[in-house]
Amino acid sequence: MLQFLNSDFQQFTQQDKQDKQDENSETEVPNNSQRQLRVKSFEEKPANKPLNLIFQMLLQKKTQKRQQIKVDPKSIPLSINLSVQVQELPIIRKIMDKNEWKKAHNFDGDILWCGPDNVQQAKQFTYDFAMVFMNLCISRIPGAKLISTKKETTSIMAKMRQYFPSIYNFYPKTYTMPEDLHEFIEDFEKKDGISYIAKPDKGTQGQGIFIVSQIEDLFNNGVKDISYIKKNYIIQEYISNPLLLDDKKFDFRLYVLITSLKPLIAYINEEGLARLCTENYQDITSSNLSNVYMHLTNYSLNKNSQNFIIHPPDFQKINFGTKRTYTSAKKTLMKMGIDVPKLKLRIEQTIVRFLYGIAPFLLNSTREVYQDKWEKANCFHVIGFDILIDRDLKPWIIEINANPSLEITQVVQNPNGIKRVETSQLDAYVKTKVIEDAFIIAIKTPQEQIEQIGKGKYCNSYKMIIDGQPPIENLDLFYKLVDLYSNLCGLRYGNLNQMRFCRLANNPQLINELLIKSDYDLIYKKIQLKSLQPDLNFLGFLEAIESISDKLLKRKASNYTLQKAVTYVVNMALKAPQQHQRPLTAKR
Ligand code: ADP
Repeated sequence: MLQFLNSDFQQFTQQDKQDKQDENSETEVPNNSQRQLRVKSFEEKPANKPLNLIFQMLLQKKTQKRQQIKVDPKSIPLSINLSVQVQELPIIRKIMDKNEWKKAHNFDGDILWCGPDNVQQAKQFTYDFAMVFMNLCISRIPGAKLISTKKETTSIMAKMRQYFPSIYNFYPKTYTMPEDLHEFIEDFEKKDGISYIAKPDKGTQGQGIFIVSQIEDLFNNGVKDISYIKKNYIIQEYISNPLLLDDKKFDFRLYVLITSLKPLIAYINEEGLARLCTENYQDITSSNLSNVYMHLTNYSLNKNSQNFIIHPPDFQKINFGTKRTYTSAKKTLMKMGIDVPKLKLRIEQTIVRFLYGIAPFLLNSTREVYQDKWEKANCFHVIGFDILIDRDLKPWIIEINANPSLEITQVVQNPNGIKRVETSQLDAYVKTKVIEDAFIIAIKTPQEQIEQIGKGKYCNSYKMIIDGQPPIENLDLFYKLVDLYSNLCGLRYGNLNQMRFCRLANNPQLINELLIKSDYDLIYKKIQLKSLQPDLNFLGFLEAIESISDKLLKRKASNYTLQKAVTYVVNMALKAPQQHQRPLTAKR
């Protein structure tokens, strides 16, 4: 099984090589078979081909236009329902005015725009929306709650890393507090040159973040006692060798659109933001670690610095603004000699991997919320990715934002010191593209998107990066687990009780002399008691399957790995007929 992963990883590496060649051409990311073909043609290039011919070929590639379908938003008379909307209206209204899109009333319209407040509310709320607004395309995936806190994202990434360590290595090692306190203290005391950053679980726009200089920092008033621990914090390895722009640390905010979970379809927007610090970066020392203007790239913090530079009107060109467009930042990086196409490709690959990891969990949540109507759930979601690049050009996913800011105003100060609020042309430009084009794509069915757009191609500003095909066979495992969990739950949706769980033991392939029927009861009870919930949720179920796999196969197989064992158990379990079997298929 690992072979698949490694070959996929090699393909990615080879693709890096290929992309170097395609410099500036913005060509598509090929699908697997195309990718193999392209890698082959790259390797087969005859060494003795006349040099000028090779140059000509490269030149041709450079002038090749990217594959794109262009849709004029005005040509699609959309109607937007804002009846449950409480925030983000300025940008939506701007987009509606620009395209002469109408406002829909009652339960009517093409798109139901949900603001972040709605997502915070109970699951039932989203469910009611879906039932009432059955024909509308809803602008939030209900399960996206899963990626709105750092703790939940961390737990999913930790799981993926446990199963696929060579793939899920782009999320810095993270400890949740108070659960991982002892593990963290052990690692911290090794003093192996790693620095750590502590962040509140829920995004606070930079407030409350600090770099850990001593263990006492993690406790309120410095009292090293578990009852004083700063709860709901995560501690993360600090990426201490960031790539710099104009000597300053920066990160990218990129926008990813998910339009379907099964089949998984996702896009990345060609535009985004680069957010810079306002003081030159220096390696961490005890005297500079509290300097937020040097270490934290948050706009909300840096806008208060006297060094903050507002973007110029021609913000797509190279400039010195503290907030820049992705395009402008890439131009500066290119000028610095950075291999920008390679970097861009790596960023996309990292995002693809992240999405494959998170999607089964989102799918499971969506199923829980919409229950028997889940296949009719018609939703899409724009996610903000915060990506830090290190000096080896490795992208690190630092944070995911299920409700990326759609703010388009900024505060500017007159020379006489008076502050005023005005529209930020840069934010309006980027965020308009992000939302307007998301609407245009989301109203198409998954099938239409796959047929009309296709992987690696653009529809306006969005490039399709996942077209419903899992590129890495093994990553199917988590989808299969969701299927199994769903089949076992039957009509109880997301509440797996002991009786239903123990049906697994009816399968002769899943019992042996080391694991008998009564062990299933014990495994269930142990995990259920720990979770303090009446039934097992999906993560609890996963733990139970791991325990079964371990007991069933560990002592038998010499080449035992958890991933292999769980795959075996899940495949066996899915082969057996289940009661209330409801295969998870396309959403619309
Ligand atoms: P929030 O959005 O809640 O303020 P983030 O996780 O985005 O929290 O962190 C804020 C900023 O801190 C980031 O934009 C980045 O500049 C810096 N930062 C966060 N985590 C790391 C890390 N692991 N390594 C280096 N810098 C980090």
